[in-house]
Amino acid sequence: MVIVISKHATEHEIKNIVLRLEDEGFKIHRSDGEQRTIIGAIGVKPNFDTRKIKILDGVADVYRITAPFKLASRSFKEDNSTIVLKDTVIGGNKISMIAGPCAIESEKQIFHLAKIVAEAGVKILRGGAFKPRSSPYSFQGLGIDGLKLIRKAADAYGLHVITEVLQINQIDEVCKYADIIQLGARNMQNFALLKEVGKVNKPVMLKRGLSATIEEWLMSAEYILSNGNKNVFLCERGIRTFETYTRNTFDLSAIPVVHEKSHLPVFADPSHAVGLRDKVPPMARAAVAAGADGLMIEIHNEPEKALSDGPQALLPEQFSTLMEELKLIASAIGRSF
Ligand code: PEP
Ligand code: MN
Repeated sequence: MVIVISKHATEHEIKNIVLRLEDEGFKIHRSDGEQRTIIGAIGVKPNFDTRKIKILDGVADVYRITAPFKLASRSFKEDNSTIVLKDTVIGGNKISMIAGPCAIESEKQIFHLAKIVAEAGVKILRGGAFKPRSSPYSFQGLGIDGLKLIRKAADAYGLHVITEVLQINQIDEVCKYADIIQLGARNMQNFALLKEVGKVNKPVMLKRGLSATIEEWLMSAEYILSNGNKNVFLCERGIRTFETYTRNTFDLSAIPVVHEKSHLPVFADPSHAVGLRDKVPPMARAAVAAGADGLMIEIHNEPEKALSDGPQALLPEQFSTLMEELKLIASAIGRSF
């Protein structure tokens, strides 16, 4: 249930509404937006008479939410959520870029790529230290040594770090080195992991599962939000379909759909979506045109030698050309980088 607080309500009235809801057994999430305050009352009570709340002083409106996700829903929070990271904001009018290699491979590699990322005006460096590989024989990542290297490279160039956490016992270590936690497609429905990153004081980027519906994806975001972490953003990375010419099928329409259903920022990852270097720029351009709040792009200076995902990595010069094209598209739709 969502309770819209009247514009003229006093803090005392709001507190009273919260107390009444708690007495009725609801868990409370309050959102103080620019326009108005909204209270999300969580609890499955199909026969609850909403008039009990509607008559309270300070209540403008009460809605039952039929969507199964509540805290992630647009009805809970009308304005777009933003996540502030020192010198950069995720969400809002500006489009954010995340770039870097699939995996951290060596000090030389990550420093080289961090420099390219910084020179392109990008603020967030990506790189996996714990890699979710389909084969147990493939490179699994450098682990904690990798985390140390990406932190060092990011600090050298004034960048933020995003990196993936694969399991609960890695969270503390990843939080020591990362500014943003990435939850990958394969873990989108690892509910135990979602609950734990919900208790962490770092933004989380939640990638869409390989075969997840948008509703399932938003339900996974709900797990993180309902455990207390409000700094969640999403990332469309392609889904499994019958098509085989690309690695996955890029679900571009997920971007406007998420914007309608949710206040959370939504990014796009054309690299994993198409899996082919030459198809990444057109889909990156399309994602910006479709309203993505940011992009995640894999780059590599020697993709033929990359330990993972070389065929989809953009070369540094392709990446800088793409950045210039994206700026033009952004300005055509009233946004900027
Ligand atoms: C990644 O971004 O490194 C990754 C493994 O992507 P996904 O989880 O989308 O497959
Ligand atoms: Mn990759």
